[in-house]
Amino acid sequence: METLTLPAQTGLSRAKKTAVIYASVMLSIHLGILLVISTGVSPVAFLVGFIFYLVRGFGISIGYHRYFAHKSFKTGRFFQFILALMGSLSNQGGVLWWSSTHRGHHKYSDTKDDLHSPIAHNFWHAHLGWMWSKEAYGKSKNPCHDLGKFPELKALNKHYVFVILFQVAGFFGLGVLLNTLYPELGTSGLQILVWGFFISTVFMWHCTFMVNSVCHIWGYQRYKNSGDFSRNNPFVSLVTFGEGWHNNHHKYSWAARNGFKWWEFDPSYYLLKTLALFGIVSDLKVPTQEQLQTTH
Ligand SMILES: [Zn+2]
Ligand SMILES: [Zn+2]
Repeated sequence: METLTLPAQTGLSRAKKTAVIYASVMLSIHLGILLVISTGVSPVAFLVGFIFYLVRGFGISIGYHRYFAHKSFKTGRFFQFILALMGSLSNQGGVLWWSSTHRGHHKYSDTKDDLHSPIAHNFWHAHLGWMWSKEAYGKSKNPCHDLGKFPELKALNKHYVFVILFQVAGFFGLGVLLNTLYPELGTSGLQILVWGFFISTVFMWHCTFMVNSVCHIWGYQRYKNSGDFSRNNPFVSLVTFGEGWHNNHHKYSWAARNGFKWWEFDPSYYLLKTLALFGIVSDLKVPTQEQLQTTH
C-alpha cells in the first residue's frame, strides 16, 4: 500500500514546494521595486525598462501565447527559440509549463479545473493566487508533447531559473558599464536593475495577469456562445499588445489575430504580418470574413 501512495504524496509535496518557491520569488521581485526610492530614475533607465516591457509583452503575446500555446502561425526553429527566449524573459515560467497551463485554461474555461478562472474561483486567485497554489505545479493534464520534442525548448523550460539570474546579472552589469563609459547619463547598476528587471517585469506581469482576471469579468462579449465568461477589454488590449480581445480569442483560439474590427487595436497581429513580409513567420491562421462578421 505504501509503495502505491508514496509517489503521489512525493509529487504533491514537490508541487507545494514549487508553489512556495514561486510565491517567494514573485514576492521578492515585487518588493525589489522599493529600491527605486534610493536609485531614482534617469531617462536611460526608463528607456531600458520600456524596451524590455516591449520584449516581454511581445514575447508573451506572439511567442508563448499565439505561437507555443496555440500554434497560430509557423516559423523556423531558430526564430522559434528566439520567441521562447523572449517569453522566458517575461519571468512568467518556462515555455512548456506556460503553454500547458494555458491550453488547460481553454480546455476547462471557467470550470473548477480552470486554474485561473475568476468565475470558478475568485478575482485574486485568477489574477495571481493560482501561481502560488500547488495545483499549478502538479503533473500536467495537458503535456505539450509537440513542444517537448525540441531539446532546446525542453532545456530552456527546465533551466528557466537561469534566465532570471542572467537578467539580474545582465541588467546590473549594463548599468555599471553605462555609468563607467557615460557617467553623464546619471545611471548605475542598481538603477538599471530596478527599471529593467523589477519595475518592467512587475508591470508586464500585471498586464498579462489582467487577461486571466479582468478579461473574464469586465468588457463586452461579441460571442456570447464562446462557452465561457471571456470578455473583450480595450484597456487590457492596449497594455498587452492585443491580448485583451479575449472573447474574440476564446471564440477562435487558433487565430493569429485577436482584434477583429479595425478599431480593435492588435499590435501583435500587425507585428506578425510585418514578420511574414520578411519571411520570418508564415501561414498565419486568421478567421474568414464570414467568421469575423458573425456574432455567434
Ligand atoms: Zn480566458
Ligand atoms: Zn489562449
